Amino acid sequence: MVCGKQRYKCKECGYNFVVGDERTNENIQALKALVVMIYSLGKGSYNMFGKFFKRDRSLIYRWIKETGLSFYDPSIDGDICEIKFDEMWHFLQSKK
Ligand SMILES: [Zn+2]
Repeated sequence: MVCGKQRYKCKECGYNFVVGDERTNENIQALKALVVMIYSLGKGSYNMFGKFFKRDRSLIYRWIKETGLSFYDPSIDGDICEIKFDEMWHFLQSKK
C-alpha cells in the first residue's frame, strides 16, 4: 500500500502499478472536451488556453493532438463525381 492505494507488482518484469488510470477525473475530461471544442472553432491557441485554464501549453497541444488522432479520416462517397460551390461567385466578385 502506497498513499492509501494498493500497488501490484508484475512477477515477470517487476513493474509496479495500481489498478485503473488515476491520472484523470471527470473535471479534467470536461476541461479537455471544452478546450478541444473551442479550439476546433478556431477561437484560441495552445498558449492562450494554457494561460486561461492554468495548464501547460504542451498539455493543451497533447489533448488536441490526441483528440484529432482519435477521429477517422474523412471520406467522400464514391458515387459523388461533381461538387457545386454555391455562392462562390459572390465571394469572388466581392474580393478586390
Ligand atoms: Zn510485466
